[in-house]
Amino acid sequence: MKLLINGEWVNSSNESELEKYNPSMGRLFGKFPAATKEDVKAAIDAADESFEMWYSKGSVERSKVIYKTKELIEKSRSELERLLQEENGKTTIEARQETDGVLDQLQYYAEFARKITGDLVEGDSPSRKIFQHKIPYGVVVALTPWNFPAAMVARKLAPALMAGNSVVLKPSSDTPFTAEWIVKKFAEAGVPKGVLNFVTGKGSEIGDFIVEHKKVGLVTMTGSTSTGQRIMSHSSSNMAKLILELGGKAPFMVWKDADLKNALSAFIWAKLWNAGQSCIAAERLYIHSEIYDKFIGMITRSFSKIMVGDPRTSDMGPLINKGALETTEKFVEDAKENGYKLLTGGERPTLSGEFGNGYFYMPTLFAGVDQKSEIFQEEVFGPVIGAMSIDDEDEMFRYANDSKYGLASYLFTKDPNLIFKSLEGIRFGEVYVNMPGPESSQGYHTGFRLTGQAGEGSRYGIEEYLKLKNVYVDYSGKDLKIETVREELLE
Ligand code: NAP
Repeated sequence: MKLLINGEWVNSSNESELEKYNPSMGRLFGKFPAATKEDVKAAIDAADESFEMWYSKGSVERSKVIYKTKELIEKSRSELERLLQEENGKTTIEARQETDGVLDQLQYYAEFARKITGDLVEGDSPSRKIFQHKIPYGVVVALTPWNFPAAMVARKLAPALMAGNSVVLKPSSDTPFTAEWIVKKFAEAGVPKGVLNFVTGKGSEIGDFIVEHKKVGLVTMTGSTSTGQRIMSHSSSNMAKLILELGGKAPFMVWKDADLKNALSAFIWAKLWNAGQSCIAAERLYIHSEIYDKFIGMITRSFSKIMVGDPRTSDMGPLINKGALETTEKFVEDAKENGYKLLTGGERPTLSGEFGNGYFYMPTLFAGVDQKSEIFQEEVFGPVIGAMSIDDEDEMFRYANDSKYGLASYLFTKDPNLIFKSLEGIRFGEVYVNMPGPESSQGYHTGFRLTGQAGEGSRYGIEEYLKLKNVYVDYSGKDLKIETVREELLE
């Protein structure tokens, strides 16, 4: 693998490399370059130099490159799906769905070619107007996570480029190969030299340098809250605009009148999609006491039937790396020590052959969990969840809102009053009522509290990549009368 700097595919300037492991097999998948600060600087310079040229092409021309990228990805989508399985451990269905998501993002943002608008505002006198138009930020730095390694790249590159920005992409060190594959398609589709640059390397080593560089106008990052906070403090030196999509801790609420089969179906998806490694994953279960035992029993039976192993043929794949597996195990140990009742799971599966060293964990359910517990307060990011019985709807909403994160939430009920109450009462960026996620391209994916700021998707999402500029014009042709400028000063 190589870096893409100013249109050239190159090695790291000091030739150093990092290793990536296949999570299903726990063995080396490949090596990738560890970019140096000089490489990063060259990438940012290239983006800065090519920006005006790209912007001046106009949005219709830019959209052609995005449509072409989509066409190229569609043609060779099976390669991407295989990569998603090998590098990330996605199941066959998940890999297909993520590829569909990539194509959808590209299509959706390319359609903005003729939809970027501004305002013409009346000035303070009849012959004065204010043109409010939207212009790109210039150099955008895109930092992506590993859990949706293709979709997150597409969701950042497509709007950033459509809006007329140039980009430096640094993907997660857990999924650099998927990101490289997508960047190659953009390059093949005709993104001009320097407009899209690709650097890999540890965020902890080159991240600060990238985000605080004075030529960077916008940083868009999806990842953990702690990294987001660090980026926020480091970008204060250049006042870069920030789009931060961070952690989640979604409550999954099942009221006494809910359609339990639908609730179960959505819950299995919300908890086990991507082995629980999703920012909108169900992370806390609040179940009405009248149906608590029944619903808990339904989940326990379903979880025990989930096939965990070879992602090509199983229901659920592995965690991303050994560290993630150990973190999940620690949550389970803490829950056991706190005396919560383990109903199913709580261990690694016994797999033989080439998957024996993979980072797999069984779907795990604890009952009788306490609101203040670690498992209800911290992001688990694995196939483990606790449940609490609840009687009062206000208390349910209060508990749901009692989280430092505020991305997704789920509510199952047939009660229209409760549904309307949830519109105000549930303080999350996304509320899914009687349905599963994930978010749609035309929805605005955003979170409250420590989930970050700004958002992605919809027209609001592309507008995040555009700065509002104001041009004041007087076309009266008359002499200016300025009260503080006496006439004789002009003689
Ligand atoms: P992460 O460790 O925070 O990494 C995210 C990206 O930031 C990676 O490319 C990482 O590079 C880079 N990075 C690390 N340190 C940096 C620094 N000091 N400066 C600049 N960049 C730096 O997150 P992750 O583990 O990949 O992703 C999981 C998290 O993402 C979870 O918390 C999940 O909830 C969140 N997430 C949120 C959303 C959402 O829409 N809200 C969507 C998906 C995931 P390295 O890999 O090289 O460290």
